[in-house]
Amino acid sequence: MSIAALPATAIPVTPAPPVTGPPAAPDAPSAELDFDACYRALAARDARFDGRFYTGVLTTGIYCRPICPARTPARRNVRFFRHPAAAEAAGFRPCKRCRPELSPGDPGWDVRADLVGRALRLIDDGVVDDCGVAGLARRLHVTDRHLRRLFVAELGVGPRSVARTRRLLLAKRLLTETTLPIGDVAFAAGVGSLRQFNAAMREAYGFAPPAAERLADADLGGLGLTERRVRTLRALAERVARGEIDLDGAQDPAEVIARLLAVPGIGPWTAGYIAMRALRDPDAWPDGDLGLRRAMRRLGIGDDEIGRWRPWRAYAAQYLWSAS
Ligand SMILES: [Zn+2]
Repeated sequence: MSIAALPATAIPVTPAPPVTGPPAAPDAPSAELDFDACYRALAARDARFDGRFYTGVLTTGIYCRPICPARTPARRNVRFFRHPAAAEAAGFRPCKRCRPELSPGDPGWDVRADLVGRALRLIDDGVVDDCGVAGLARRLHVTDRHLRRLFVAELGVGPRSVARTRRLLLAKRLLTETTLPIGDVAFAAGVGSLRQFNAAMREAYGFAPPAAERLADADLGGLGLTERRVRTLRALAERVARGEIDLDGAQDPAEVIARLLAVPGIGPWTAGYIAMRALRDPDAWPDGDLGLRRAMRRLGIGDDEIGRWRPWRAYAAQYLWSAS
């Protein structure tokens, strides 16, 4: 499903009664998310709502907790979800600032005696990882189909997606907070093999876990790079590992380029090239590229033309490269 095609809330919403004043923190979770109440809680960074809903931001493709320190997005650019799995199923990725994997979860679910509450606790205990959704349904004395229907009505996704997101978020947390070897993290997160684990992380979050974190700590002396380049590479890896630079295309390209340019040793050419290749920014322009200069000179195109190709300068660059 494309993010832009989503309705305002990803699960059915009943018309909300008029609300005055700040919303009260709900006592028990309910299937309906009231858009206005959620938006007010988001704008106020109201900690009482942490874990009760998640905000998908259409312009960045990222989902956040209500307490996220990032600037509050415009109303038209947000979608609300009851569960991180629903946000991920809709194509959003977890925010690196507020880190949904650290969310306290919905306290209402811990005490709920109904089927979805009990199922969520069993999923937390790893029942789906061990026995599959069929095993979970058996434990609850219901059919797979019935369980799935309840989950979709309440959370917007089925139990399998919830279990998968739980595993991935756990892995993400272990990777950031512990020095466990990747293999142990994969095991702890209930993913059979390292290869499967990397594939799952790449699919869900756009990166394979060993890359940036490990590169930042690795001995880069044997790569045949100059001392200066090693320093640049390490500085870049550290910033990517800390989440300051996002190379998976989820951050605004202009912001990524500005942050890349702040890394000592990265100039406009490198930043433009990364924006083109990694961020797939259609307007990226590797400034100062020799091949481009040569092709433009040969075709009699002046520098003042470059601005006219916005916002498609990356396509112009591709064309010029292929023409030279
Ligand atoms: Zn956030």
